[in-house]
Amino acid sequence: MLRDTHLKINLDTLIANLEIVQSHLSKKTEIGAVLKANAYGHGSKVIAKTLMAYGLSYFLVATLLEGIQLRNEDSRYQILIMGHTPDHLLEQAILKNLELTIFTYEQGLLIHQLAQKHKTTATVHIKIETGFNRLGFSVNEKLIPSILKLSLLKHLNIKGIFTHLALRNKNADENQFQVFQKVIRSLEEHNVEIPLKHVCDSIGMTLYPHMHMDMVRIGALLYGLQGEEKFIPGIQQILKMETKFSHIKILEEDSFISYGMRKEVKKGSRIGTLPFGYADGYPRALYKDGFVCVNGDFYPFAGVICMDQCMIDLGNANFESDDIVSIIDTNQLSISKLAKKVQTNKNEFVSSLAARLPRLYIRHKKPYLISYEMLGETHELY
Ligand SMILES: *Cc1c(COP(=O)(O)O)cnc(C)c1O
Repeated sequence: MLRDTHLKINLDTLIANLEIVQSHLSKKTEIGAVLKANAYGHGSKVIAKTLMAYGLSYFLVATLLEGIQLRNEDSRYQILIMGHTPDHLLEQAILKNLELTIFTYEQGLLIHQLAQKHKTTATVHIKIETGFNRLGFSVNEKLIPSILKLSLLKHLNIKGIFTHLALRNKNADENQFQVFQKVIRSLEEHNVEIPLKHVCDSIGMTLYPHMHMDMVRIGALLYGLQGEEKFIPGIQQILKMETKFSHIKILEEDSFISYGMRKEVKKGSRIGTLPFGYADGYPRALYKDGFVCVNGDFYPFAGVICMDQCMIDLGNANFESDDIVSIIDTNQLSISKLAKKVQTNKNEFVSSLAARLPRLYIRHKKPYLISYEMLGETHELY
């Protein structure tokens, strides 16, 4: 391991989460695994490979580059770019066999023309605006004629149609779903049957079984991130973060610690220095009421967290330089609790974890792979 501070990602738990999600779905609903933002910081290459070995090969990303990254790993992956792909990049996506999201007639026509030029067929999903107001075809009198025209284009394969819930409340979500269903029905009346209709993300899937349709787009639940209120039993966080002490000293007098000397610690206390900081994606704001755990006990930060290092107040507890320090773990150190402390959500917290953190993957309860994203290297450990 080329750095003491690292993420530990449990692939056994990933698969266990996947099985729980599957058990809540009927046979006709498939899972699109959301791997955007480096699989929410968990490392999309290894997560994709693990899911593929388990038989799941439909991967959803946000951008063209994320799509190309996965395509370069394996030509068998089915990859959907859920975000906008600008016109000048559409050709790249088609040549890489990436599925595209469209929300205007002109995008569809251009994709058809580019696919024709390369004597191929491009696959698209049509995004419908039902109330989120981010991306999507507006639902108006032009919508159905536009989709009908697109459905006649020979080099365009309309594989999917989808929308995204704003998750405001049950009523508003249900309204969005009704708008979407009305579009589907109108298309069916014109004999246009789009095979993959999808609406739900993790929370939508948990709350609304009747909205599962042909596919659910699942990110958070696979990584074991869920809010307490929509609780699916058994889902567990798959990521931990650990480090070791870089230095421990006993203060010889009352002393101030770190930038701005904002924190005074009494003489005789032990101060542990740890080799991680906010550039690793750990929120700097946690210096106020965050803590780490060593041998089952919790210790607060002493002074502000620096870019690459931080100090903790060990009181009079004594540790060895080899003792393991837990930064992210379950219970008090769960992603859910830490995110709440800095008033953000779990997804933002994990997707901010930096590429400079080695990712150690556990499989069959043993260290299995180590990935250094900075070096583009992954090493098998058994
Ligand atoms: C990110 C995303 C998802 C996945 O959301 P989770 O809550 O992590 O399951 C699904 N659909 C779209 C359109 C997204 O952008």
